[in-house]
Amino acid sequence: MKISLKYPRNLLTKPVLSNAILKTKININILQAKVADSVGEYTIEIDDKDAAKFVDAIRKEGVMAEELKDSINLEREKCIDCGACVSLCPVGALVMKNFEFGVEEEKCILCGRCINSCPFKALSIKKA
Ligand code: SF4
Ligand code: SF4
Repeated sequence: MKISLKYPRNLLTKPVLSNAILKTKININILQAKVADSVGEYTIEIDDKDAAKFVDAIRKEGVMAEELKDSINLEREKCIDCGACVSLCPVGALVMKNFEFGVEEEKCILCGRCINSCPFKALSIKKA
């Protein structure tokens, strides 16, 4: 599952993610990391069976953690298969196959880069 982590400013210089990994001995995959204004945000991927234990450990470090349940939505009737959005996706979730555009939702990390790139507004974030 994918989990969003938000760090308040006072934790940005502390190794809280490493601490949680060392304490739980759970492997995670970092999909996205950014620092904007005074908040740090990570998107991580973790085995479903390990998620509750890891979330508990990272929350004890003072980090906000929430499962990412939203998803990317393609309105097929608006899309003209131009491919203009494909190269913007950092994880290869947007694909062209046989001149037809498609979304591989399981890869999407909800970074939002593709949303404003479509001139026909065919892409959006669907709230869970
Ligand atoms: S930019 Fe819009 S119209 Fe073009 S392939 Fe992407 S979703 Fe479809
Ligand atoms: S929001 Fe769009 S650009 Fe970002 S990961 Fe998902 S499909 Fe790719």
